[in-house]
Amino acid sequence: MTRVFQSIPEWMDFKSSLLGKTLGFVPTMGALHDGHLSLMQRSQQENDFTAVSIFVNPTQFNDPSDLTHYPRTPREDLALIESMGVSFLISPEITDLYADQYRYQVSEKVESQVLCGAHRPGHFDGVLTVVLKLLNLTQATRAYFGEKDFQQLRLIQGMAEAFFIPTQIIPCPTLREADGLAMSSRNRRLTPEHRQKAALFPKVLKNSASPQEAIDELKNQGFEVDYIEERFGRRLGAVRLGAVRLIDNV
Ligand code: AMP
Repeated sequence: MTRVFQSIPEWMDFKSSLLGKTLGFVPTMGALHDGHLSLMQRSQQENDFTAVSIFVNPTQFNDPSDLTHYPRTPREDLALIESMGVSFLISPEITDLYADQYRYQVSEKVESQVLCGAHRPGHFDGVLTVVLKLLNLTQATRAYFGEKDFQQLRLIQGMAEAFFIPTQIIPCPTLREADGLAMSSRNRRLTPEHRQKAALFPKVLKNSASPQEAIDELKNQGFEVDYIEERFGRRLGAVRLGAVRLIDNV
Protein backbone atom coordinates (compact mmCIF):
# COMPACT_ATOMS: atom_id res chain seq x y z
CA MET A 1 0.00 0.00 0.00
CA THR A 2 1.39 3.36 -1.02
CA ARG A 3 1.26 6.03 1.65
CA VAL A 4 0.21 9.37 0.16
CA PHE A 5 1.49 12.69 1.52
CA GLN A 6 -0.05 15.96 0.42
CA SER A 7 1.00 17.88 3.46
CA ILE A 8 4.67 18.89 3.58
CA PRO A 9 4.86 19.02 7.42
CA GLU A 10 3.32 15.55 7.60
CA TRP A 11 5.96 14.20 5.22
CA MET A 12 8.77 15.95 7.17
CA ASP A 13 7.54 14.41 10.42
CA PHE A 14 7.28 10.99 8.88
CA LYS A 15 10.63 11.26 7.08
CA SER A 16 12.51 11.31 10.40
CA SER A 17 11.23 7.79 11.10
CA LEU A 18 13.22 6.50 8.09
CA LEU A 19 16.55 7.22 9.80
CA GLY A 20 19.18 4.62 8.89
CA LYS A 21 17.22 3.43 5.81
CA THR A 22 18.05 4.29 2.22
CA LEU A 23 15.45 6.26 0.29
CA GLY A 24 15.24 6.51 -3.49
CA PHE A 25 13.37 9.45 -4.99
CA VAL A 26 11.68 9.77 -8.41
CA PRO A 27 10.30 13.25 -9.13
CA THR A 28 7.64 13.40 -11.87
CA MET A 29 4.87 15.58 -13.24
CA GLY A 30 2.49 12.62 -13.42
CA ALA A 31 0.64 11.24 -16.47
CA LEU A 32 2.90 8.28 -15.78
CA HIS A 33 4.22 5.93 -18.47
CA ASP A 34 6.73 3.09 -18.63
CA GLY A 35 9.65 5.54 -18.73
CA HIS A 36 8.66 6.78 -15.27
CA LEU A 37 8.07 3.21 -14.09
CA SER A 38 11.60 2.21 -15.15
CA LEU A 39 12.99 4.91 -12.84
CA MET A 40 10.82 3.63 -9.98
CA GLN A 41 11.94 0.07 -10.59
CA ARG A 42 15.60 1.06 -10.50
CA SER A 43 15.02 2.99 -7.28
CA GLN A 44 13.31 0.02 -5.70
CA GLN A 45 16.21 -2.25 -6.60
CA GLU A 46 18.75 0.10 -5.03
CA ASN A 47 16.99 1.43 -1.91
CA ASP A 48 15.02 0.30 1.15
CA PHE A 49 12.17 2.68 0.27
CA THR A 50 11.08 4.66 -2.77
CA ALA A 51 9.23 7.97 -2.82
CA VAL A 52 7.65 9.28 -6.02
CA SER A 53 6.49 12.87 -6.31
CA ILE A 54 3.80 14.11 -8.65
CA PHE A 55 3.78 17.85 -9.06
CA VAL A 56 2.99 19.73 -12.26
CA ASN A 57 5.43 22.54 -11.64
CA PRO A 58 3.96 25.82 -12.90
CA THR A 59 7.24 27.75 -12.75
CA GLN A 60 8.85 25.65 -15.49
CA PHE A 61 6.08 26.37 -18.02
CA ASN A 62 6.90 29.46 -20.05
CA ASP A 63 3.71 28.93 -22.07
CA PRO A 64 0.49 29.16 -20.01
CA SER A 65 -1.47 27.14 -22.57
CA ASP A 66 1.08 24.30 -22.30
CA LEU A 67 0.51 24.26 -18.52
CA THR A 68 -3.28 24.22 -18.95
CA HIS A 69 -3.14 21.35 -21.41
CA TYR A 70 -0.47 19.31 -19.64
CA PRO A 71 -2.03 15.83 -19.18
CA ARG A 72 -3.22 15.00 -15.68
CA THR A 73 -4.27 11.45 -14.80
CA PRO A 74 -4.15 11.30 -10.98
CA ARG A 75 -6.26 8.18 -10.50
CA GLU A 76 -4.38 6.10 -13.08
CA ASP A 77 -1.08 7.39 -11.66
CA LEU A 78 -1.92 6.28 -8.13
CA ALA A 79 -3.02 2.85 -9.39
CA LEU A 80 0.29 2.44 -11.28
CA ILE A 81 2.35 3.56 -8.30
CA GLU A 82 0.44 1.14 -6.04
CA SER A 83 0.92 -1.70 -8.53
CA MET A 84 4.67 -1.04 -8.51
CA GLY A 85 4.73 -1.37 -4.73
CA VAL A 86 6.16 2.13 -4.27
CA SER A 87 6.19 3.10 -0.58
CA PHE A 88 5.42 6.83 -0.70
CA LEU A 89 3.73 9.31 -3.00
CA ILE A 90 4.33 12.99 -2.33
CA SER A 91 1.98 15.37 -4.14
CA PRO A 92 2.24 18.78 -2.54
CA GLU A 93 -0.02 21.77 -3.18
CA ILE A 94 1.42 24.63 -5.24
CA THR A 95 0.81 27.12 -2.45
CA ASP A 96 2.75 24.96 0.03
CA LEU A 97 5.72 24.23 -2.23
CA TYR A 98 5.85 27.88 -3.28
CA ALA A 99 4.97 29.51 0.04
CA ASP A 100 7.64 32.08 -0.93
CA GLN A 101 5.65 32.94 -4.10
CA TYR A 102 8.73 31.91 -6.13
CA ARG A 103 10.70 34.85 -4.73
CA TYR A 104 13.66 32.51 -4.27
CA GLN A 105 14.99 30.86 -7.42
CA VAL A 106 17.94 28.80 -8.55
CA SER A 107 19.39 29.90 -11.85
CA GLU A 108 22.28 28.59 -13.86
CA LYS A 109 23.97 31.02 -16.20
CA VAL A 110 25.59 29.01 -18.98
CA GLU A 111 24.20 25.62 -20.01
CA SER A 112 20.62 26.63 -19.20
CA GLN A 113 20.78 29.33 -21.87
CA VAL A 114 21.13 27.02 -24.89
CA LEU A 115 18.91 24.37 -26.55
CA CYS A 116 15.59 24.18 -24.65
CA GLY A 117 16.67 27.10 -22.47
CA ALA A 118 16.97 29.36 -25.51
CA HIS A 119 13.47 28.40 -26.66
CA ARG A 120 11.77 28.31 -23.25
CA PRO A 121 12.88 31.37 -21.25
CA GLY A 122 12.93 30.68 -17.52
CA HIS A 123 12.20 26.98 -17.96
CA PHE A 124 15.34 25.69 -16.29
CA ASP A 125 15.11 28.20 -13.41
CA GLY A 126 11.75 26.62 -12.66
CA VAL A 127 13.11 23.08 -13.01
CA LEU A 128 16.18 23.67 -10.83
CA THR A 129 14.18 25.51 -8.17
CA VAL A 130 11.55 22.80 -7.82
CA VAL A 131 14.14 20.01 -7.87
CA LEU A 132 16.14 21.74 -5.12
CA LYS A 133 12.98 22.10 -3.02
CA LEU A 134 12.06 18.44 -3.55
CA LEU A 135 15.58 17.16 -2.86
CA ASN A 136 15.67 19.15 0.38
CA LEU A 137 12.25 17.85 1.38
CA THR A 138 12.91 14.20 0.67
CA GLN A 139 16.60 14.12 1.72
CA ALA A 140 16.79 11.00 -0.41
CA THR A 141 19.88 8.81 -0.63
CA ARG A 142 19.53 8.68 -4.43
CA ALA A 143 17.34 10.50 -6.96
CA TYR A 144 16.58 9.14 -10.43
CA PHE A 145 16.34 11.23 -13.62
CA GLY A 146 15.86 10.22 -17.25
CA GLU A 147 18.42 10.84 -19.98
CA LYS A 148 15.47 11.68 -22.22
CA ASP A 149 15.68 15.15 -20.67
CA PHE A 150 19.44 15.28 -21.15
CA GLN A 151 19.98 19.01 -20.68
CA GLN A 152 17.84 18.92 -17.54
CA LEU A 153 19.80 15.96 -16.20
CA ARG A 154 23.14 17.75 -16.73
CA LEU A 155 21.86 20.90 -15.04
CA ILE A 156 20.58 18.93 -12.05
CA GLN A 157 23.89 17.07 -11.75
CA GLY A 158 25.68 20.43 -11.89
CA MET A 159 23.40 21.95 -9.25
CA ALA A 160 23.89 18.97 -6.92
CA GLU A 161 27.64 19.41 -7.20
CA ALA A 162 27.58 23.19 -6.91
CA PHE A 163 25.44 23.17 -3.76
CA PHE A 164 26.97 20.06 -2.15
CA ILE A 165 23.63 18.25 -2.19
CA PRO A 166 24.22 14.88 -0.51
CA THR A 167 21.67 13.01 -2.67
CA GLN A 168 23.30 10.94 -5.41
CA ILE A 169 21.90 11.84 -8.86
CA ILE A 170 21.37 8.68 -10.93
CA PRO A 171 20.91 8.97 -14.73
CA CYS A 172 18.56 6.41 -16.33
CA PRO A 173 18.30 5.42 -20.02
CA THR A 174 15.45 6.62 -22.25
CA LEU A 175 12.57 4.19 -22.70
CA ARG A 176 11.06 4.14 -26.19
CA GLU A 177 7.89 2.92 -27.86
CA ALA A 178 8.19 0.02 -30.32
CA ASP A 179 8.57 2.47 -33.22
CA GLY A 180 11.41 4.35 -31.48
CA LEU A 181 9.52 7.41 -30.19
CA ALA A 182 10.75 8.34 -26.72
CA MET A 183 8.00 7.81 -24.16
CA SER A 184 6.61 11.09 -22.88
CA SER A 185 3.52 12.30 -21.06
CA ARG A 186 3.01 14.69 -23.97
CA ASN A 187 2.72 11.85 -26.53
CA ARG A 188 -0.89 11.25 -25.50
CA ARG A 189 -1.76 14.72 -26.78
CA LEU A 190 -0.67 13.86 -30.34
CA THR A 191 -3.41 13.28 -32.92
CA PRO A 192 -3.28 9.75 -34.43
CA GLU A 193 -1.74 11.18 -37.58
CA HIS A 194 0.90 13.14 -35.67
CA ARG A 195 1.59 10.15 -33.42
CA GLN A 196 2.47 8.10 -36.49
CA LYS A 197 4.66 10.85 -37.90
CA ALA A 198 6.41 11.39 -34.55
CA ALA A 199 8.33 8.12 -34.97
CA LEU A 200 10.38 9.81 -37.72
CA PHE A 201 11.87 12.24 -35.19
CA PRO A 202 14.27 9.80 -33.43
CA LYS A 203 15.07 8.07 -36.73
CA VAL A 204 16.06 11.28 -38.49
CA LEU A 205 17.90 12.52 -35.39
CA LYS A 206 19.95 9.35 -35.37
CA ASN A 207 20.53 8.73 -39.07
CA SER A 208 21.20 12.16 -40.56
CA ALA A 209 24.76 13.00 -41.54
CA SER A 210 24.56 16.42 -39.87
CA PRO A 211 22.19 18.52 -37.72
CA GLN A 212 21.35 20.64 -40.78
CA GLU A 213 20.41 17.56 -42.77
CA ALA A 214 18.15 16.47 -39.90
CA ILE A 215 16.51 19.91 -39.75
CA ASP A 216 15.85 19.92 -43.50
CA GLU A 217 14.45 16.39 -43.48
CA LEU A 218 12.17 17.01 -40.50
CA LYS A 219 10.86 20.25 -42.02
CA ASN A 220 10.19 18.37 -45.27
CA GLN A 221 8.16 15.88 -43.29
CA GLY A 222 6.00 18.63 -41.76
CA PHE A 223 7.69 19.10 -38.38
CA GLU A 224 8.40 22.52 -36.95
CA VAL A 225 11.94 22.43 -35.67
CA ASP A 226 13.01 24.37 -32.55
CA TYR A 227 16.58 23.10 -32.77
CA ILE A 228 18.80 20.19 -33.69
CA GLU A 229 22.29 20.61 -32.24
CA GLU A 230 25.30 18.60 -31.22
CA ARG A 231 26.50 19.28 -27.69
CA PHE A 232 27.72 17.33 -24.68
CA GLY A 233 28.77 14.48 -27.01
CA ARG A 234 25.19 13.94 -28.18
CA ARG A 235 22.80 15.14 -30.86
CA LEU A 236 19.79 16.79 -29.25
CA GLY A 237 16.58 18.06 -30.78
CA ALA A 238 13.22 19.66 -30.10
CA VAL A 239 10.38 19.68 -32.64
CA ARG A 240 6.69 20.49 -32.74
CA LEU A 241 3.77 18.66 -34.26
CA GLY A 242 0.74 20.88 -33.92
CA ALA A 243 0.64 22.13 -30.33
CA VAL A 244 2.79 19.28 -29.01
CA ARG A 245 6.49 19.80 -28.40
CA LEU A 246 8.74 16.73 -28.43
CA ILE A 247 12.37 16.47 -27.33
CA ASP A 248 14.89 13.69 -27.75
CA ASN A 249 18.62 13.02 -27.91
CA VAL A 250 20.82 10.26 -29.30
P1 AMP B 1 8.36 14.26 -16.28
O1 AMP B 1 7.18 13.68 -15.58
O2 AMP B 1 8.20 14.32 -17.77
O3 AMP B 1 8.84 15.54 -15.66
O4 AMP B 1 9.55 13.21 -16.06
C1 AMP B 1 9.91 12.75 -14.80
C2 AMP B 1 11.21 11.96 -14.92
O5 AMP B 1 11.02 10.87 -15.80
C3 AMP B 1 12.35 12.81 -15.50
O6 AMP B 1 13.56 12.47 -14.84
C4 AMP B 1 12.37 12.37 -16.93
O7 AMP B 1 13.63 12.52 -17.56
C5 AMP B 1 12.02 10.90 -16.80
N1 AMP B 1 11.50 10.38 -18.06
C6 AMP B 1 10.52 10.93 -18.85
N2 AMP B 1 10.37 10.20 -19.98
C7 AMP B 1 11.26 9.17 -19.91
C8 AMP B 1 11.59 8.07 -20.77
N3 AMP B 1 10.99 7.90 -21.95
N4 AMP B 1 12.56 7.22 -20.37
C9 AMP B 1 13.19 7.40 -19.19
N5 AMP B 1 12.92 8.41 -18.33
C10 AMP B 1 11.97 9.28 -18.69
